[in-house]
Amino acid sequence: MRLAWRYVTFLPLVVTWLSLVSVNAAAAQTAKAAKPSAPSCDRASFRVLLDVGHTAEDPGAISVRSVTEYDFNLNLAKRIERNLIDAGFAKTMLLVTSGPALPALIRRVVNANAAKVDLLVSVHHDSVPESLLQHMDGEGGPKRFSDRFQGHSMFVSHENSDRVGSLQFAKMLGQRLKERGLQFTRHYTEKIMGGRRRQLLDAETGVYRFDKLYVLRAARMPAVLFEAGLIINPAEEKILAGEERQTVIAAAAADAVEAFCSARMAATPKTIARSARR
Ligand SMILES: [Zn+2]
Repeated sequence: MRLAWRYVTFLPLVVTWLSLVSVNAAAAQTAKAAKPSAPSCDRASFRVLLDVGHTAEDPGAISVRSVTEYDFNLNLAKRIERNLIDAGFAKTMLLVTSGPALPALIRRVVNANAAKVDLLVSVHHDSVPESLLQHMDGEGGPKRFSDRFQGHSMFVSHENSDRVGSLQFAKMLGQRLKERGLQFTRHYTEKIMGGRRRQLLDAETGVYRFDKLYVLRAARMPAVLFEAGLIINPAEEKILAGEERQTVIAAAAADAVEAFCSARMAATPKTIARSARR
């Protein structure tokens, strides 16, 4: 009930965008009249879909203080959405689903594809494998935690229809987080991660390869899964729950979207089609 108004289903998604089209058509006319000399980002028409990872009913990881990953994801995605809209990306949308995880995930990807967005960013918060969790007594009973790792990470799939675009955006986001003093986690490179070990594609910015991640491989647009940090780490959970970190991440995301949008505008349609086939 508390979250019911936030659920975005496919129909309102399309209706909202259709209503934006007429507003943006006028803006586009004005932009055409004042043709810029070099290609730049047309913020009003660039469509960003922020996929809120998991659902209220199937909420993903649980933090040290027993807050769900879904709550973290929704808060951060809303912050990023606000920043993007304030920056002129009026077609930014949150994609929120309800119910059991798998059908909700499939529904989110179907909706994203139908909406023909320019960029999909799936927002998540991280945990560690069960075997790495430690136990402590906390307020309200025993707690599970791990303070072994901290930091954000990004994932792209080589099975995505635009793997070059996906990697390009992931690096842009990682770079902007780095410029703001944030560090990515390297734990996915460690042996201890077993089957969850991933290839680090870019050691500068923390981009990992995860081909089989459904949201990335099934999305027919550049797609990146962003893990904002480890909510199973007591110190990092506190920081991630705070306004300061969320503001920094949202600012970095808006900068990265702007850079990516400009890069796409500068590339010819042929270049983009070629990179999408790679
Ligand atoms: Zn998740």
